[in-house]
Amino acid sequence: MKRFRKSLIILILLSLLCTPFYSFTEVSADSTASINIKNLTLNTDYEYSGDHISYIYNGVELNLDNSYGIIADDGSALGSMTEIFQKNLHVICTFDLKTQTITLQNACNSIVLSVGSTKAVVNGIEKTMDVSPQILQLEGLTPQIFVPTRFVAENLGITYFWSSTAATVTMEQTYTISYKTNLTETPVIIPLFDDITLDDIVMDDRYYDGEMAIYIPGIHQTDYENNVITNRYSCVKNIDVNLTADNRTEIVFCTSSIRACSLEIKNGSLYVTLTDPDDVYSKIVIIDPGHGGKDTGAIRDSSYEKDYNLLIAYENTKDLFAASDIKVYYTRVNDFYSNIDTRAAMASKIHADLYVSLHQNTNQNTSINGTSVYYSSLNNQTLFNGLCSKTMAALFRDNLTTALGTVNYGVIDHALTVTTYNTVPAILIELAFMSNTEDLAKLNSTEFQKNAGKVLFDTVKEIFDTYPTGR
Ligand SMILES: [Zn+2]
Repeated sequence: MKRFRKSLIILILLSLLCTPFYSFTEVSADSTASINIKNLTLNTDYEYSGDHISYIYNGVELNLDNSYGIIADDGSALGSMTEIFQKNLHVICTFDLKTQTITLQNACNSIVLSVGSTKAVVNGIEKTMDVSPQILQLEGLTPQIFVPTRFVAENLGITYFWSSTAATVTMEQTYTISYKTNLTETPVIIPLFDDITLDDIVMDDRYYDGEMAIYIPGIHQTDYENNVITNRYSCVKNIDVNLTADNRTEIVFCTSSIRACSLEIKNGSLYVTLTDPDDVYSKIVIIDPGHGGKDTGAIRDSSYEKDYNLLIAYENTKDLFAASDIKVYYTRVNDFYSNIDTRAAMASKIHADLYVSLHQNTNQNTSINGTSVYYSSLNNQTLFNGLCSKTMAALFRDNLTTALGTVNYGVIDHALTVTTYNTVPAILIELAFMSNTEDLAKLNSTEFQKNAGKVLFDTVKEIFDTYPTGR
């Protein structure tokens, strides 16, 4: 019995030592937007009438387990941001504790609010609200961020009706209209001056620069000065015509959002159609090489995590994806800084199917090594044939550790921004520990980098083969 107790204690100590949560220093860098309600500053002076409001969305009454709507002093309805908008309407909601800034984002709109302020910024334009967002603790419930629900809903493109007699808010949203390209827009027609076929035309999708470039053989800059190409798309800011060093004509569509392009030749003209990526591609993955620019990620001596992430996830996968039928969008293709909220929102903007983020780990205990894959059980998106983030995480963990010989450090449920606030199955891979000498040697090996890139590609391919999108 004594011995049993002793071994039990050793077992508990061992399991504590091995629990990655406590040794995972990466979390602090990547989870800035996780909403930790324990740290919120309460507005205890705020008064409300105590009336409960019900919310109905697309005909279904919302189940607000941990909250209820309330009426502000001026009669406006205030509702819990996370309960109503995040949990039930799948709006991407973030809160910056330091600046008290609230961000709500869906496919078409973004709203930035501040706690206690009636100023709002909607899609970059300043607006004033009747009532300000507040952090409130309703009786018996945890503190929550309350936002003016009419203002938020209407500015997210949701219709909003208030019945004071029933104390009920009714919201309606039709996805097909807000999501799709304006159907009255027609292809841009580019006259061709030589007898060429589609095989002669090269397309270069530089989505990361907001450009879709089309290369036509021959010198035609003057021809297009005399036959100006008419822009028919509201998402196209301008169309530039340039001459390349190898005597081709470059036509660049500068777009305000990521668009997919399809080409057709009819009656001696090139028809350029710009649409949502999922109209053109049947398999779309977002690959996120973690960190970038001013955000170095983990540092070991003079090595930055951001560089390993880019080398493996971008440099060593781009040719593989280019030769496949899988369309990849990278969150960055160079040493560029983009914040994690933008990265997390990318999948909903371009209608992607999967999201894969690559990072490297670090730990004060330099003996810890291996590969871990994070997913968030708060993101329960299952897009096709039952694939969810957890299944995807296990598959990447298995494939990476088997092919690369790294230690299996586990599949971990943790609410990181890019995995939680995503509209598709999403994972974050911590491939190796930069703090561990053996793991670092692997990361520095060009062969390991190449193999790791190959496993990322192969696993994405395996997922699309096993779980077809049906498009
Ligand atoms: Zn990282």
